[in-house]
Amino acid sequence: MVSPMTDPLLPLLKQTFGYDSFRPLQREIIAASLAGRDAVAILPTGAGKSLCFQLPALARPGVTLVISPLIALMKDQVDALTASGVAATFLNSSLAASEVQQRRSGLENGQYKLLYAAPERVMAQGFAEDLLRWNVTAIAVDEAHCISEWGHDFRPEYRQLAQLRAKLPGVPILALTATATEQVRGDIIRQLELPAPEVFLASFNRPNLSYSVVPKDQAARQVVEFSRERRQDAGIVYVQSRKSAESLAAALVADGVKAVAYHAGLQPEQRSANQEAFLRDEARVVCATIAFGMGINKPDVRYVVHADLPKNIEGYYQETGRAGRDGLPADCLLLYSRGDLVRNLKFLDDISDAKAVEVAARQMRRMADFAEGDACRRVALLGYFGELWPGDSCGGCDICLQPRETWDATTPAQKVLSCVFRIQQKSGFGTGLQHVVEVLAGANTERIRRWQHDQLSTYGVGKDTPRDEWMALGRQLIRLGLLDVSDGTFPTLALTNQGLAALKERTPILLTRAPVVASPSPAKLARAGSIACDEGLFAELRSLRKRLADEKGVPPYVVFGDASLRHMGRSYPQTDAAFLDIPGVGIQKLADYGQLFMAEIAAWLSTHERQAFAELAAPAAPPKAKKQGADSGTAQETLRLYRQGLSPDEIAAQRGLVVATIHSHLAQSIASGALQADPRDYYSAEDEQLLRQAVAEHGLASLGKLKEALDHRLDYVALHYFRAFENRGG
Ligand code: ADP
Ligand code: MG
Ligand code: ZN
Repeated sequence: MVSPMTDPLLPLLKQTFGYDSFRPLQREIIAASLAGRDAVAILPTGAGKSLCFQLPALARPGVTLVISPLIALMKDQVDALTASGVAATFLNSSLAASEVQQRRSGLENGQYKLLYAAPERVMAQGFAEDLLRWNVTAIAVDEAHCISEWGHDFRPEYRQLAQLRAKLPGVPILALTATATEQVRGDIIRQLELPAPEVFLASFNRPNLSYSVVPKDQAARQVVEFSRERRQDAGIVYVQSRKSAESLAAALVADGVKAVAYHAGLQPEQRSANQEAFLRDEARVVCATIAFGMGINKPDVRYVVHADLPKNIEGYYQETGRAGRDGLPADCLLLYSRGDLVRNLKFLDDISDAKAVEVAARQMRRMADFAEGDACRRVALLGYFGELWPGDSCGGCDICLQPRETWDATTPAQKVLSCVFRIQQKSGFGTGLQHVVEVLAGANTERIRRWQHDQLSTYGVGKDTPRDEWMALGRQLIRLGLLDVSDGTFPTLALTNQGLAALKERTPILLTRAPVVASPSPAKLARAGSIACDEGLFAELRSLRKRLADEKGVPPYVVFGDASLRHMGRSYPQTDAAFLDIPGVGIQKLADYGQLFMAEIAAWLSTHERQAFAELAAPAAPPKAKKQGADSGTAQETLRLYRQGLSPDEIAAQRGLVVATIHSHLAQSIASGALQADPRDYYSAEDEQLLRQAVAEHGLASLGKLKEALDHRLDYVALHYFRAFENRGG
């Protein structure tokens, strides 16, 4: 391993890209590539995968071919490289014939270090011969999950890429993706026919993202309020339907926000115009269906809101992952209502494949469990990918920042449930939550008089508690599944069977108290990755950047990222040397923009006082990536599949392991705390009692003894789980 002081690549990293150090795994991946080995790099969005092929491209002779799925992505990356002084180009169908001719002759003359192309082009007749002539010495397959049918963006053309190997023997291939599943990884290696690639797997934690979940009340109002607190910031609001994309965008526009919609129902020209407006900082917010995604390399998305419940955790992770690629703090907000789960489950009615329905339904429930959970969101998310978070608080999610207290809500919950019950009994129809709360509060409304709900025994029994508390309680009961909300324009409440049972049996109902604020304000959230700076100057530099970007016809972040501008806004560089010290400033950008930005800073300082800032904290060490040992790796893979909704039997079939092994993996995860589970799913309270007595006598070491002591009432699987629960946290 090369020591950082003598790493010959560091000067290149600084001069060209303006960075002083590598991000995790970049150095290792680059070393493998330069040593001529094949490699697969699985790093989360924003981890800096591009650099892993861009830097070695400059360090080796010849051209690096980058295979990229989308025309928009190619253009962006080539623009960014060109701005850093790197000779890069792309070939695709968007170019006029004369332009293609010019670029091809540049390639013949060895003018470029990087060539971007889509797989169709690469596989076209005669192209491999061209590549040989152009001296292609390395191949990068970006967004490599496109090769896999298991991935979300399957592109059949990616499957032909293995043929390139035969035509360009000895040229190393580096495949890169942010999709972590073992299925996709296996597919990449198989489909590309990589005989023995090095596999690099980074932690999937995104330290600069904060996560929060708030009860969905009126999505439009909540989104508008959330964006009001972030007037300067770019954000994505994900919704389920085209209609809500339109209506939310309209609500934001009415509030003075430049917002656009993005969904598959728009004309292609309109769609790309809206996307372009977002990339160029002309539209600040895009309200989109999940159709909006892969083409978005915008690094300064400061928030992602899910106004509707995503269908699975994987999707939620990928979508929230589009925030904060630049490493600066960004917020992920999920508006949650139990009704969304119900609606998602209803979508499954149209699917005939029973197996697929079952898996999808389980994934939907896990997503809802995530939202309803009261443990750290980051721990839960990383756990989904089989990663353990050291400790149990991340300091960057709603749960960790505003721990909720649990309280005994049995009595007030009984009031709500019984009020719903009595209304139904008296009138023969259900009403909305608002009306139920008015009855509890003893309000004197026209409807209460008309329906004679003032004669109900529950009328006015809740006068002493503010109405919004009743509303919040009602919503929690809906989320718990004790009350059900009907569909339609006037949703009405009904008791579920579970609710009816709770009412009759006075089941204890424990609830967590919702935090006081409806949506956490930016100031409250942990600001990992934040760079304090002179905000006034930062705003000036931003508008300068926008002007320059418009002149060049590129998105603003191609000129400088926000992180670079914030560094300028705290160190006020006034000399070339100081300007070159700014992260993201290499030699080319110093030459192109140094004068202009330093002049702007000088002008600012002539009318404003220079501010001082505390030193920036070093970035926190990332949690250990998975795969510490063969053993824990395989247990973690089991856990990951389990969290995707597969049953132990299905996991065993898929992994080619016996089901007992899968159970022992899951038990291991319970013992380590990675998996939260309920003992009642494995053995009864009565058996637990008996087991405890047996343990007192025989100890926990021999499950055989325990089995005997219980007269073989329980099988080994249950006993394994029992031992895991007993060992949990210890
Ligand atoms: P990915 O493809 O993994 O999603 P990108 O390659 O788009 O990530 O990089 C994300 C951001 O990180 C970019 O703005 C890039 O300039 C920045 N970046 C990459 N490597 C470094 C580094 N070593 N130091 C600082 N910033 C970096
Ligand atoms: Mg990328
Ligand atoms: Zn947390």
